[in-house]
Amino acid sequence: MSFSDNLFKRLDEGRFLGLQVWEFSFKSLSREYGRAFLWKVVLRHPWRTLRGAFEYRRFLKRRRRKGGITHLFWEGEEDFLQKATAEEGILVGLGFCQKPFECPSRRPNHSCLYLSTLDLDQGEEWPHPICRECKVAIMGKKALAAGANMYLMTSALDIACDVMIPSLETGRNAILILCPLSVQAITLPLLICGIKGYLIEYSSGNCRDYEEWLRADRGVKEEMTTLSPGALEKVMGLLHLLASRRRGSIRFERQGNMYWPVGEPSTDGHASV
Ligand code: SF4
Repeated sequence: MSFSDNLFKRLDEGRFLGLQVWEFSFKSLSREYGRAFLWKVVLRHPWRTLRGAFEYRRFLKRRRRKGGITHLFWEGEEDFLQKATAEEGILVGLGFCQKPFECPSRRPNHSCLYLSTLDLDQGEEWPHPICRECKVAIMGKKALAAGANMYLMTSALDIACDVMIPSLETGRNAILILCPLSVQAITLPLLICGIKGYLIEYSSGNCRDYEEWLRADRGVKEEMTTLSPGALEKVMGLLHLLASRRRGSIRFERQGNMYWPVGEPSTDGHASV
């Protein structure tokens, strides 16, 4: 281990200045996503960065994590869900590594043929038999009924450009499904960018160290990630609750790398699922 690795590891262990992302941040500075975040967020928005750092210190002290599910909000869960119900812009983000290897849209990318063709006013049509078993389809359909955006996460740079930077002005509520290593790394940038919600960890197939994470960031991922039954149940429960309280949509429209919910439900105010 190099001197700098050792130094930043020790800073993390000692929570220097109340933070625990020194090693990851230092390594990120030599990467495009790290430089993009530094220039477009940290240097352009120093007060938001400072506020995010204070929130992150608070998060570390009062971290609420159970069964691989982390709450990235301070109020009680019901209060947060009521707020999320009233606000626009809920995002459901899943890793491309959750796509099956036989995915007709292939991996790694932001595309899903099922989400592109889904229409809740039409009968169920599966663009490929493998989609029937795919959790992206199951969650995507529920997310659409809840009027939420869907985003298939690929690289850290794309997540910064597609999700974090656009949230700087207005904030955003999100359910993000990612590997435990990413949860540790992404929490501070999310708080700086005003993103609150749930961080749900994969229980298998996830990256185990920074080198594996870097390969996945470049799209090299030989495993398929999965959620534990409890975590999947939690995600589906949250989406079901939001769908019962919010006006849903009937289709997704792809804008850039994101799927946006569009169209009014034609029947009783909620798209049926
Ligand atoms: S539902 Fe799954 S398998 Fe089908 S296109 Fe989308 S990601 Fe691929």
